[in-house]
Amino acid sequence: MLQLHNVSKRYGPTLALDSVDLRVAADEVVAVLGPSGSGKSTLLRMIAGLEHPDTGTITWQERNLADVPVHARGFGFMFQDYALFPHRTVGGNVAFGLRMSGWERAQVEERVAEVLELVGLSGAAGRSIDRLSGGEAQRVALARTLAPRPELLMLDEPLGSLDRPLRERLIVELGAIFEQLAVTVLYVTHDQEEAFTIADRVVVMNHGAVVQQATPEDLWQRPAGLFVSDFLGFTNQFEAPVTGGAADLGWATVPVDLPNGAAAVVIRPDALTVDASGPIPVTMTGSVFRGDHYLGRARLSTGDEITFPVDARPRPGDRLSLRLDPAGVLAHPLPPAGRSEGPGPESA
Ligand code: ADP
Repeated sequence: MLQLHNVSKRYGPTLALDSVDLRVAADEVVAVLGPSGSGKSTLLRMIAGLEHPDTGTITWQERNLADVPVHARGFGFMFQDYALFPHRTVGGNVAFGLRMSGWERAQVEERVAEVLELVGLSGAAGRSIDRLSGGEAQRVALARTLAPRPELLMLDEPLGSLDRPLRERLIVELGAIFEQLAVTVLYVTHDQEEAFTIADRVVVMNHGAVVQQATPEDLWQRPAGLFVSDFLGFTNQFEAPVTGGAADLGWATVPVDLPNGAAAVVIRPDALTVDASGPIPVTMTGSVFRGDHYLGRARLSTGDEITFPVDARPRPGDRLSLRLDPAGVLAHPLPPAGRSEGPGPESA
């Protein structure tokens, strides 16, 4: 098990990591998700031993890593910018680390063939690096990282440089490889779909701090605050007064588990359904095609706008009625005026 306790790191005025506590169990795949600048790479660099925390401890299998140098930690590390050696073959790239750590030639050849098969590049050992597609190069880099059999694998935006269709395919392949290997994985990404696809558990970071840790399902159902809701793309957000356990949105009243005061009410788009007898009248303002449905946008009686799925393409000006499932309503107490809990300027 990997364990971080109260780990902080400051670079000048920037608190890059703010008292991070984290446990990763054996064979668990944990995605670290957050906007650019939230401290994800710093976290990985500390665990890898490339940098040292100002405070706190990092242990692996109960052993404090403070005085264990990078190479002695036995972890695998793959960056977005995984420079392959351009003048070596695919096999030469994968074998490099093994040779450096003194593996016998026969063992190296066997292991190279094994990991190339694992990443779907059987028989490619003799190919030259400059002839590879982006996806193939990414697989070679992964094979190189996996070759020495690391017990902990850390990947920092490994698919970041690839286009979306390829990323979507590779993320599924990566998941299958992790499962087959039974390896402990820390996977850093700013892409929530990638995190949700690959991870048993997602750790959300903002401004160097862990703001929520949960399974993808729980995170989706119960984002812990406005930052996480924003980051998941839940744009239906309303400020509402709360009295007697109900928030008054002006166009609907929803039960919330909050004391009297002000709340930010977040409504997941899937909590709204088009229903001719629904109590919420709206006027369509637009829609986005999403393959098997449209994401409709409409104006409420209060003038606020709302987004929800709709089967047939609505036309601007169409009048529809909606029904709201209270289970899809999330409410957070609103911070006092002047303080914002939303994503910071670094999240752009
Ligand atoms: P992320 O990986 O989430 O994009 P980073 O861990 O790279 O975030 O950075 C977190 C914060 O720490 C950022 O504000 C970044 O500018 C700062 N930072 C990271 N590394 C250094 C460094 N070596 N020197 C100064 N500031 C740094």
